Amino acid sequence: MDYFDFKNGELYCEDCRVLDIEKEVGTPFYLYSAKTLERHFKAYEDALHGIPHLVCFAVKANSNLAVLRFLGELGAGADIVSGGELFRALKAGISPSRIVYSGVGKTGEEIKEALNSGVLMFNVESTGELEKIGEVSRTIGKAAPISFRVNPDVDPKTHPYISTGLEENKFGLPVDEARRAYEYASRNEEFLIRGISCHIGSQLTEVSPFVDALKRVLSLVDELEKKGIKIEYLDMGGGLGIKYDNESPPLPEEYVKALKTTIGSRDLKLILEPGRSICGNAGILVTKVLYKKKTPKKAFLVVDAAMNDLARPSLYKAFHEIVPVVEQDAKMSTFDVVGPICETGDFFARSRSLPEVNPGDLLAIRSAGAYGFTMSSNYNSRPRVAEVMVYGDKFKVVRRRETFDDLIRGETFFHE
Ligand SMILES: *Cc1c(COP(=O)(O)O)cnc(C)c1O
Repeated sequence: MDYFDFKNGELYCEDCRVLDIEKEVGTPFYLYSAKTLERHFKAYEDALHGIPHLVCFAVKANSNLAVLRFLGELGAGADIVSGGELFRALKAGISPSRIVYSGVGKTGEEIKEALNSGVLMFNVESTGELEKIGEVSRTIGKAAPISFRVNPDVDPKTHPYISTGLEENKFGLPVDEARRAYEYASRNEEFLIRGISCHIGSQLTEVSPFVDALKRVLSLVDELEKKGIKIEYLDMGGGLGIKYDNESPPLPEEYVKALKTTIGSRDLKLILEPGRSICGNAGILVTKVLYKKKTPKKAFLVVDAAMNDLARPSLYKAFHEIVPVVEQDAKMSTFDVVGPICETGDFFARSRSLPEVNPGDLLAIRSAGAYGFTMSSNYNSRPRVAEVMVYGDKFKVVRRRETFDDLIRGETFFHE
């Protein structure tokens, strides 16, 4: 459910007319509905009511400061994967005690920053990383709160690029290795064992892989408990899917219920790290049709946004619904919707049935709030687009469109 709806044949974001926003901002731009973010975040909070928990929003899905601040004020923590994301989360006012730090390649410098700032825990993904954390801990004289990310070896049945919990993936520690790592860490005072974590993939549309993963993690928790190693936080990662096309992913309520049942009476605080399921359907990318181009074989709509602005279709052949911002009575045709970039992979849709729109008309690419702007680049020297947030009948540019000067910021000639 989201708050992008048609009223009198025109697309609105909450109570704001998309056409009015475009008049002020130009195209292309990302448009976020704060009330949709709120609704999706609250769906988790409501489902988790009555059990100790923390919802850490996965910053990599949408790292705009306004989005982070908004979710932080609703009570969200943050799941971060880099020093840059730590910087953003803190800037947005999220307390370090609500930040968990994931990722396979944390550098010494990043670990130091995070330890100094007081994050809740490091989700450790290798023994090499554990050693590095130990080193930093000794240098600054502060024990490091840790959890090991376990790779439960379950198939999340999602796109191979976003599946992370299989034995062949680079993420986490196999259960046996994790057991040894906990024993080792429990004997060393550089480490403070806080939790256990896993994250098996993204855009999951079934509950069963989560439950399978949880069962494996819990059997390790029980084993560790017997050895006197107490786990306080159980972090199940993110990964709940959203509806892009005709998927019907479980709601947070069903997902959390399955987790609760599996956890039973164990005394654990539950952490979840949702990204996509909070912000994916809270954002659209608004773009303008530049040209309608017909070749003997195909019809193209060339739009002013491109793969550098939204990479998911090119990267994963991901489906995004595309709708004209003003409803059209025109007859339907089949189009490839493509951007101006010099790559055949620069498309948003192929052979898509759309009304015969015209140059100057606006299109909304839906479900673009997650892994949209955060994966964007300056490829083809295209300034990154504006980001706009709506709450009720108010909108605000929360990241201005980049200028040409932004493009060359930091560059210099070899000979001055
Ligand atoms: C990407 C990621 C998430 C968020 O995944 P979503 O599918 O967006 O919910 C959570 N935790 C970790 C460790 C991740 O890498």
